Amino acid sequence: MKITLAEGAGGVSTARLISEVFAKHFQNPILAGMEDAALLPAEGGRIAFTTDSFVVTPLFFRGGDIGRLSVAGTVNDLLMRGATPRYLTAAFIIETGTDTETLDRIARSMAATAKEAGVIIVAGDTKVVEGNGQVFINTTGVGFVPDGLEISASRAKTGDIVLLSGTLGDHHAALLSARMGIENAIESDAAPLTAMMQALLSAGIHLHAMRDVTRGGLGTVLTELAEASEVRIELKEEALPLAPAVKSFSGLLGLPPLYMGNEGKLVALLPAEEGERALELVRSSPYGENAAIIGTVTTGEGVILRTALGGIRRVGPLVGEGLPRIC
Ligand code: MG
Repeated sequence: MKITLAEGAGGVSTARLISEVFAKHFQNPILAGMEDAALLPAEGGRIAFTTDSFVVTPLFFRGGDIGRLSVAGTVNDLLMRGATPRYLTAAFIIETGTDTETLDRIARSMAATAKEAGVIIVAGDTKVVEGNGQVFINTTGVGFVPDGLEISASRAKTGDIVLLSGTLGDHHAALLSARMGIENAIESDAAPLTAMMQALLSAGIHLHAMRDVTRGGLGTVLTELAEASEVRIELKEEALPLAPAVKSFSGLLGLPPLYMGNEGKLVALLPAEEGERALELVRSSPYGENAAIIGTVTTGEGVILRTALGGIRRVGPLVGEGLPRIC
């Protein structure tokens, strides 16, 4: 069935869309009440709270879809502050002409990713606008951070190492391949990093500063961390993990992998003496098998890249458009 403006009118058709597609996949006791607002049990510590909107095309791509992305993206932002993710909202803006089977696939993927990430979807909204079958999703996430756990962009210290949880640019390359109609085996890395963070936190690793490597790529993310912490970050070019297929794809198109986005990778700045242990923990976690220590934190400012040939190059944030919408 195709979505029409009736599914957005708030009446019988809207109720049917919600019960037959979204509530069916997202079911949990809090959502089941269908109240005007969800009541969430409070936990100790502080509340982590974040929101993100997802407008990617195509809706489905190798290795993922907008549904998986919309859960993983928001969960990963909660995790980067040390939060245990608990609750999500999901708001859908659906263009007329969208197939209900498409929505069903998206909702099923969101439910599976939420389960993997350890969150439940406790509130939501659907709106229908005139258009041609595109779907936009906003998710807001709530998690809890124990008192005393301070992970922040401004807490990187001189002497820290830079740990990257895997290969660069996979999501970006997969999306761009789909958009350009290029057949290859590159898959998006879209994934929730809950298990990886749990492994680091439960082992007592002293994580100073973290970001998930998304839009703008590693170059942009590290520039932000260096600026917020008033330190210099030095990267070793030959240490940057890159899947062979992504390497040749980016080489062919002249795309610098430092500015290609991921949706299931994190970068962590932490004490050098804990580096090898943290690396082992990440490598043993889901999605972390290609993790590497890629650099160090020194005094100074900005980000520099030491090339394989001994050169030094300044790395800045992404300037301009940054290729297609990837999330
Ligand atoms: Mg982030």
